[in-house]
Amino acid sequence: MNVDPPDPEVEVPVDEDPSALEAPRTRTRGSIGLLEENCTVCMLCARECPDWCLDIEGHTEVAPAAQPGGRPRTRNVLDRFAIDFSLCMYCGICIEVCPFDALFWAPDAVPAEPARSDLVEERDALREWIGLVPPPPALDPGADPSQEAVAAAKLDAIAAQRAGTT
Ligand code: SF4
Ligand code: SF4
Repeated sequence: MNVDPPDPEVEVPVDEDPSALEAPRTRTRGSIGLLEENCTVCMLCARECPDWCLDIEGHTEVAPAAQPGGRPRTRNVLDRFAIDFSLCMYCGICIEVCPFDALFWAPDAVPAEPARSDLVEERDALREWIGLVPPPPALDPGADPSQEAVAAAKLDAIAAQRAGTT
């Protein structure tokens, strides 16, 4: 099939009204949000990313023992979490492999930038995109409650018990 090349004299209409653009579908892979509270700086996502787009830095801190007489614990603290969206191919591997549910697809697209280096998005942007992540679909009627809901209820019960005994 022969296709005529575009005529450079013909002006292509550009709709500059953002409200006229179609809103992204709820499950669109537009950007990646980071729930920092869940991230343990385990680096698994960075190791599994086929394009090496994740840049994560952290350090270790000593936390007090959980119980009197116990040993002090160490924990990882996040210093930097960046994704280079000029390399990202939206495969979702980082989200799939995260053992702590710290990464999620957000529907809004990563903003276009004039320079490739500006497509490296830092933790502030990733944290903002978490607010755009849609809630999971409702469970089927009669399904068991989610593990998260069960765990949260247990923590609430322990906290209420402790409050009652102090
Ligand atoms: S979606 Fe794929 S390419 Fe993009 S950061 Fe995650 S693992 Fe890497
Ligand atoms: S795999 Fe998850 S918990 Fe580990 S560094 Fe990546 S986002 Fe954080």
